[in-house]
Amino acid sequence: MDEPAEASPPRSTRGSCAHHPDRPGHALCMSCRKVVCQECATEWDGINYCAACLAARRRTMGRDSSVLGFVLVTAVSVVLVLLTARLMVWAGVLAMELR
Ligand SMILES: [Zn+2]
Ligand SMILES: [Zn+2]
Repeated sequence: MDEPAEASPPRSTRGSCAHHPDRPGHALCMSCRKVVCQECATEWDGINYCAACLAARRRTMGRDSSVLGFVLVTAVSVVLVLLTARLMVWAGVLAMELR
């Protein structure tokens, strides 16, 4: 029986911090897979991130939400303009027919 050998055994968070070699590792960054110490790790949504990845993630989130807001506002105003135009045409046709 050939059992598929594990490519790499799951690494524990033991080791030293990627930024502070003199400090013991506390958590593994889920984004860049670096071991970081307690001070460098930040838990967000139950997942540990290093400071750099958390900053990058926050930037991305902020940009995403502002783009989403812009798209939403644009879509709503386009729909409103179309509805208004349609209503005006409709009202005009009605007025013509009633005459
Ligand atoms: Zn990271
Ligand atoms: Zn550290």
